[in-house]
Amino acid sequence: MKVIMLGAPGAGKGTQAKKIAEKYGIPHISTGDIFRANIKNNTELGKKAKMYMDKGELVPDSLTLDLIMDRFKEADCADGYVLDGFPRTIPQAEALDRALAENGEAVDHAINVEVADENIINRMSGRRACLSCGATYHIKYNPSRQEGICDTCGEKLILRDDDKPETVQNRLSVYHQQTQPLIDYYSKKGVLAEVDGTKDMEEVFRDIIAVLDK
Ligand code: ADP
Ligand code: ADP
Ligand code: ZN
Repeated sequence: MKVIMLGAPGAGKGTQAKKIAEKYGIPHISTGDIFRANIKNNTELGKKAKMYMDKGELVPDSLTLDLIMDRFKEADCADGYVLDGFPRTIPQAEALDRALAENGEAVDHAINVEVADENIINRMSGRRACLSCGATYHIKYNPSRQEGICDTCGEKLILRDDDKPETVQNRLSVYHQQTQPLIDYYSKKGVLAEVDGTKDMEEVFRDIIAVLDK
């Protein structure tokens, strides 16, 4: 099963993608996590990606596409995956479709997690991330057991630089310009499902399962 998560930054794509991955036994692939791991390890790719990410802009397709196409070749992708944060532009979606079509495959579901812009800033300022294992928390809606410490691996949690309100505003406008057109793109392909991302996390997940199990 190949699933794509769509939605504004902070809509809950990552939160839901992790649950889907666990339930259906497929990998959760987040391009944002891959870039952040590269930044942490100070790789050449990380240095280049950081310049764009810090401004809230998209990393160019030239840096993103090879990376994700290589990831698909890994053995754990044989039964599908849930993509979180990719594709983010029409050219990325077209590249994915072309790559899949070579093997007679296609995207099975694109799930749009809908949350209005007004709610996003609040979500983002409370988000805390673990750069070590990729876990995500929210100080109010999904707190870690011990404040500031990852439940899973014990690392210190951080507020991502790009989750500060100044940058979030720019990410939202980038989202509306470059990523939102994908909703129409997948709707035309007949694989789009919309869920209300303002419900609590478990309810959103139930709505998603209803789509995937149909
Ligand atoms: P969020 O979880 O808030 O949606 P991500 O972790 O997915 O954010 O992405 C963080 C940043 O990484 C983005 O603002 C962008 O700069 C970069 N990025 C992630 N995925 C892509 C992609 N598919 N194409 C271009 N840039 C990306
Ligand atoms: P995205 O991957 O779309 O950027 P995340 O899954 O990281 O979004 O969620 C953004 C923030 O909102 C996180 O702090 C997360 O814990 C929190 N969050 C996710 N889903 C919900 C929800 N349904 N209700 C309240 N908070 C949520
Ligand atoms: Zn962790």
